[in-house]
Amino acid sequence: MKQIVIVGGGTGGIMTAAKLVKEKDMAVTVIEPAEYHYYQPAWTLVGANTYNFEDTKKKMSEVMPAGVNWVKDYAEKLDPDNNKLITRSGEEIKYDYLVLSPGLVYDMSLIEGLEDAIDKGVVCSNYTDPKHTWDVLKNFKGGNAVFTQPTTPIKCGGAPQKIAYLAADYFRKSGIADKTNVIYATPGGVIFGIKEIKKTLEKVIDRYGIEFKPHYAPVKIDADKKIITFKFVNADASECVINKDNKIHEKMVGDTTIEMPFDMLHLAPPQVAPKFISESVLANEFGWLDVDINTLQHKKFANIFGMGDAAALPTAKTGAAIRKQVPVVIGNIKALIASGHITDKEYNGYSSCPLVTGYGKMVLAEFDYEGNFTPDPKLKQMLIFDSSKELTRLWWLKKYILPRLYWNKMLKGKDV
Ligand SMILES: Cc1cc2nc3c(=O)[nH]c(=O)nc-3n(C[C@H](O)[C@H](O)[C@H](O)COP(=O)(O)OP(=O)(O)OC[C@H]3O[C@@H](n4cnc5c(N)ncnc54)[C@H](O)[C@@H]3O)c2cc1C
Repeated sequence: MKQIVIVGGGTGGIMTAAKLVKEKDMAVTVIEPAEYHYYQPAWTLVGANTYNFEDTKKKMSEVMPAGVNWVKDYAEKLDPDNNKLITRSGEEIKYDYLVLSPGLVYDMSLIEGLEDAIDKGVVCSNYTDPKHTWDVLKNFKGGNAVFTQPTTPIKCGGAPQKIAYLAADYFRKSGIADKTNVIYATPGGVIFGIKEIKKTLEKVIDRYGIEFKPHYAPVKIDADKKIITFKFVNADASECVINKDNKIHEKMVGDTTIEMPFDMLHLAPPQVAPKFISESVLANEFGWLDVDINTLQHKKFANIFGMGDAAALPTAKTGAAIRKQVPVVIGNIKALIASGHITDKEYNGYSSCPLVTGYGKMVLAEFDYEGNFTPDPKLKQMLIFDSSKELTRLWWLKKYILPRLYWNKMLKGKDV
């Protein structure tokens, strides 16, 4: 019996456990301290009051596959040379194969003032408290509505702009659009890296009159004065796709520093790998899990695999990406057990970003490591023929179909 230990009972951990527990020659342990498992993709909709937060949450005991040995604790110290790890309570757990999917953590200290500001007053984040986002939107009476994201990698890179579109739509519907400046400020140079999607999003930005501010990296938040400070980064003006005449009241306070007052602020917090990964020998120089980007096998330890948000993969960190990573990890572990070699099955960097562009509208960005637009052929079964366009059917997919597929199929180890 091979001992398979999985760290993390989130999207990657449960999907992997649900499949491996069906194998006769494997004993599966999941190390996971949390009481609840969340369907985070719906938090965008919660922030816009079109999805119930309680429906994004299930007890961990309900999603933990039957037959798994659940250790309700944190993995604290990894000891890959001795094929074991130590939990926070000091338990030593040995493994033949280790799968790491512990997600990422927020590091508020990377933006001055964020720790005190987040989730209070008019500062909100769908990443930390989507219900507060809705409170802020509901109570907003006009002025500068600022949406931004940090310079670190983040999960679901599209989430900071999705809520900007939903908010802009909501401000229109509630009749305050003409006294509101919606500003989307990002350290990036373009609105989206895939050209088919970028084209559509530029039209969306135009429609709402959103001020798109590329190369803006948030560095400081003064919650009392309601001012956010940005550093102008990577100043290649040719990449600024949409930058209309400055309606916004903002000022340069140095060569590269801009202060912007806000009447509401939504941001994605800076995100890093959990310490037990970043401080271990398994991390790369930036702290992320150092796995091969195609085989997902650790670069130094052949019996360790990594997936999901914690892994150093140059693609968008999403649950959709994990759906394609899990079969590669499972195939490789089974092949290692059977023959001592991994398979030639490779993860191609597939990820997807469901870009909600308003109530009832969505664009679905699906892509690979090369930045190719790779729509799922199954979309045609839903009569979706061009997912780079805003479609109501895609909204239905996001709001009604994907959550059901997640809870009832993906987390049950069934192929979708
Ligand atoms: C606002 C928002 C919108 C999003 N939108 C989308 C979307 O539209 N589509 C999409 O596909 N994805 C979306 N995502 C991203 C998606 O939810 C994540 O990419 C996915 O959940 C990552 O899975 P994971 O297994 O890597 O980590 P997680 O699902 O975060 O799970 C990690 C688990 O590991 C546990 N853990 C942490 N540390 C330890 C430790 N030391 N020991 C043991 N266990 C530990 C945690 O408790 C947690 O349960 C969104 C996320 C957010 C926040």
